[in-house]
Amino acid sequence: MRPERPRAERLGRVFWLGVALFSPALPLHAYFAGNWYSIGHSYSLGMFAGVASYVTFANALVLSARVPLFDRLFGHDRVMAFHGYLAAAAIVLAFAHVVFKAVFGLHLGMGHVQAGLAALALFAIVAAVTLLLMIESSLHRLRPLAALRARLIRRRAFDYTRLKRFHNLTALALALVTVHVLRAAATAENRLRLGVMGAWGTAALAAYAYHKAGRAIRRYRQGFTVADVRPRGPALVEIAIRRPGDAGLPHRPGQFAYFRFLSPVCGRAEHPFTIASAPGESSVRIVVKALGDYTAALAALPTGVRALCDGPYGRFTPARGTGPFLFVAGGIGITPFLSILSAWDTAGFADSVTLVWTARTRAELFADGFFADLAKRHATFCYVPVVTREAGSGTGRIDRALLGRLVGRDGPARLSAYICGPENLRQSAVAHLRALGLPRAAVHFESFNA
Ligand SMILES: Cc1cc2nc3c(=O)[nH]c(=O)nc-3n(C[C@H](O)[C@H](O)[C@H](O)COP(=O)(O)OP(=O)(O)OC[C@H]3O[C@@H](n4cnc5c(N)ncnc54)[C@H](O)[C@@H]3O)c2cc1C
Repeated sequence: MRPERPRAERLGRVFWLGVALFSPALPLHAYFAGNWYSIGHSYSLGMFAGVASYVTFANALVLSARVPLFDRLFGHDRVMAFHGYLAAAAIVLAFAHVVFKAVFGLHLGMGHVQAGLAALALFAIVAAVTLLLMIESSLHRLRPLAALRARLIRRRAFDYTRLKRFHNLTALALALVTVHVLRAAATAENRLRLGVMGAWGTAALAAYAYHKAGRAIRRYRQGFTVADVRPRGPALVEIAIRRPGDAGLPHRPGQFAYFRFLSPVCGRAEHPFTIASAPGESSVRIVVKALGDYTAALAALPTGVRALCDGPYGRFTPARGTGPFLFVAGGIGITPFLSILSAWDTAGFADSVTLVWTARTRAELFADGFFADLAKRHATFCYVPVVTREAGSGTGRIDRALLGRLVGRDGPARLSAYICGPENLRQSAVAHLRALGLPRAAVHFESFNA
């Protein structure tokens, strides 16, 4: 039987989702207790939208601070997506707040009103830039938007690292809104409101400051340095980092971390990479495909450079003994399976496992030998390499016919599938596996797009 999520975990998810969605109720109670009858008035509607917007905005900032508990419960990519939805809701509510306040009468000369409007303008600009340039969304199916995005990216004025720095301005926007909220007469006249709203904004800003500064200092003190850099194939490099005492990271196989190498060779930006080594190894290894300026520069990274490693994160972690499993990897999306299968090689295979790995050329299947050897040593492990752009045996595609044959080994009722690779592979593999009878809960993936 496919394992159910533990009860405590399911309850934790429901609880924290409830907190995120209903937390505006507490501050709203502080403003409206005894006055709910006035809610239809434009002043009260403005207040309602403003309070809900502020709390939702603060919650969105907390989610961006990589809180380990939320990562464990929901998965990193889903937490980040939810953070985006909360931010969008906060903006809509903030505009509603301004509109209702304008209907009632907006006093533009007052300092706290100016702070609020400046915050909203800043927040809206950052959100628009994020939506247009940083994340993939269905909005980009609109041709004019897609063309504008392509033009701006081509000019390279908006590389991802700069965009990320710009995104930090949301913390400044929250600081400005906090000033706005605390100095507004409706808040200042009541101690409970001052306390609740002040604590909410301060807690969110503190979480963000810890994430940006405190966590970086802790990572620096871990003392990781680059121990080895070696090519692993066309545009592929493997980097090993190590710290005194040979202690790696306490990660589960399949997790990733944010890496920052303090070298002028690549700049100091932080990028996410999956940990390809197994837990317990003396070094932490990653394999990187050169896809842009940063990843291309890593091949020239000298050894001895200080490395900061924030993590581990992610729930792409199949548990040994809960299979059978079908692993589907595209290109560099093999990295989580390297860690998982290395760990099971040592511990022993407790499940039937099929790995199908596709790449354009044989040279890109950089760990082919390791998996072929694994298949010889473990009868329950089956390795299926698929090359898409070279003639010879193993040439083809990961299509429904192939997946149908692989699913047939263990049957769709018991199988758990894990998919990692480019977006188009992920989408097609999920669709095929669902059509082949795997329930939604049995198909796992984690986005490789940050
Ligand atoms: C959870 C996760 C695990 C990953 N594991 C691996 C791995 O094991 N091996 C591997 O080669 N790649 C991995 N990636 C992808 C890798 O992070 C990107 O290829 C790399 O950051 C691209 O940087 P670039 O500047 O060279 O390319 P660019 O051309 O500048 O960027 C290409 C795309 O990568 C993303 N990206 C760029 N910079 C950043 C950044 N600072 N932070 C977050 N995303 C960024 C953006 O979506 C961008 O559109 C992983 C990504 C994620 C989210």
